[in-house]
Amino acid sequence: MNYDVIVIGGGPSGLMAAIGAAEGGAKVLLLDKGDKLGRKLAISGGGRCNVTNRLPVDEIVKHIPGNGRFLYSAFSVFNNEDIIRFFEKLGVQLKEEDHGRMFPVSDKAQSVVDALLRRLQELRVHIRVNTPVKTVEYENGQTSAVILQNGEVLPTKHVVIAVGGKSVPHTGSTGDGYAWAEKAGHTITELFPTEVPITSNEPFIRDRILQGLALRGAALSVVDPKGKIVKTHMMDMLFTHFGISGPAALRCSQYVIKTMKKFKTNTVHVRIDALPAQKEEPLFQEIVKQIKDEPKKGLKNVLKGYAPERYLLFLLEKNDIDASQAAGQTANDKIRAFVQDLKGFTFTVNGTQPLEKAFVTGGGVSVKEIHPKEMASKLMKGLYFCGEILDIHGYTGGYNITAALVTGRIAGTTAAQNV
Ligand SMILES: Cc1cc2nc3c(=O)[nH]c(=O)nc-3n(C[C@H](O)[C@H](O)[C@H](O)COP(=O)(O)OP(=O)(O)OC[C@H]3O[C@@H](n4cnc5c(N)ncnc54)[C@H](O)[C@@H]3O)c2cc1C
Repeated sequence: MNYDVIVIGGGPSGLMAAIGAAEGGAKVLLLDKGDKLGRKLAISGGGRCNVTNRLPVDEIVKHIPGNGRFLYSAFSVFNNEDIIRFFEKLGVQLKEEDHGRMFPVSDKAQSVVDALLRRLQELRVHIRVNTPVKTVEYENGQTSAVILQNGEVLPTKHVVIAVGGKSVPHTGSTGDGYAWAEKAGHTITELFPTEVPITSNEPFIRDRILQGLALRGAALSVVDPKGKIVKTHMMDMLFTHFGISGPAALRCSQYVIKTMKKFKTNTVHVRIDALPAQKEEPLFQEIVKQIKDEPKKGLKNVLKGYAPERYLLFLLEKNDIDASQAAGQTANDKIRAFVQDLKGFTFTVNGTQPLEKAFVTGGGVSVKEIHPKEMASKLMKGLYFCGEILDIHGYTGGYNITAALVTGRIAGTTAAQNV
C-alpha cells in the first residue's frame, strides 16, 4: 500500500505529526524502531510529563534559548493553549504547577501517551513499531521513498522526520535523522548537551562535602574568564557527587559549554548567590548588628535562617571561622568575607555530563533551511522536520515537548495539505 505521508519517529513530535496529517485527510503511516511509541514521553517530567507551559507566548519563546523566535510563526497557528485544549478534548485534564508548568491531573505521563495513541487509532493511522528506518530517498529534488533497515522500500512523496536528537539513546533517540537531512542538503549545526548537570573537580565536590544539599531560589551565574557574568538563573539547585544539578544548573549548563568553547578553556567559573533578594552591604550590616545585639549567642545560631545549616558551616569553615564560637568574638573582616561568599561563592566547573545524559540535544537541522509556518524543508520537496532533530532547544519546564508538539502538528498538517 502507498501512503500519502510517512512519519518517522513516534515521540511527541511524530505522534502529533501523524495526528495532524490524518486529521488533514492524508493516508498516514507512522514508523518507529522501538517496540513502543512515546518512550521518552513516558519517562518525561519524572514520569509525570510536563506536557506544556501556560506562560504567555512571549515568555515561552524566551524560555527556548535555542531558536525560540523561529517558533513565533508556528505559535500563531498552534500554541501552548491549543495543546491544552487538544489534550482536554482527548480526555486528558491538565493542571498548572509552579512557573506555569502543565501536567496531566493523573500525574501519569503514560496517560498523555495513551491519549495520543487512542487518537491515532481513531484516525486509522497505520503504525509499525520495531521498524527501524535506514534512510530517506530523494529523486529530482523530491522526496521519493523511505527505506527500512530490512531493505523494504516504502514509496511516498511526503516524509516527516521526527526521530528526535541524541539524548538518552535507550529511548530510541540515537541521532539517525541527521544523515538523512544532510543527504537532502541540510546543514546540521553543532550538537551539544543542554539541560544537563554541570561537573566540577573542586575538592569540596570530590570529597562530597555538600552532596545532596539543595539551595532553594539561589541565583547561579556562569562567569567568563574576564570575570563577566554570562548568564544567571534564579531557581533551585543541588550539589551532587560530581558537581551541581537542579533546575538552575540545568539551565546554566549550555552557557558553561558555550563559554568554555568561546574562550578555548577547559574550565569556567560559576557563582552562587544564596540570598539573591538581599544586597551585600545591607546584609553585612544586618548581621553585624545582630552580633552586636547578642554577642554571647553562638555564631551559628545568629546566622541560622540565612541559608541551610550545611551550607553555612561550609562557608564558615572556608573562611576559617569557628561556627561554635560566641558571635561577638568574630572579627568584622571575617564576617565580611563570609557574607561575600553567601552572596557570591565562586568555584570552578569543568564541563557537563555528556550528550547521552542530557535532557535535550542542542543544535540540529538548521532552522534557516525550514519554512517556519510549515516545517517544510526549503531544500527538498515533500520533506518535513519536527521536534528535537531541529536546532531548537528549550529549558526544562515543558518547553521542549511544547516545541515538539507544535512543530509536529504543523509538519503533519502541511504535509497533508500538500498531498
Ligand atoms: C528524562 C527526560 C525527561 C524529560 N522531561 C521533559 C518534560 O517533562 N517536558 C519537556 O518539555 N521536555 C522533557 N524532556 C525533553 C523531551 O522529552 C524531548 O525534547 C522530546 O521527547 C522530543 O520529542 P521528539 O518527538 O522530537 O523525539 P523523541 O521523543 O526523542 O522521539 C523520537 C522517536 O524516533 C524514533 N526513532 C529514532 N530513530 C529511528 C529510526 N531510525 N527509525 C525509526 N524510528 C526512529 C525513536 O525510537 C523515538 O521513539 C525530557 C527528556 C528526558 C530525556
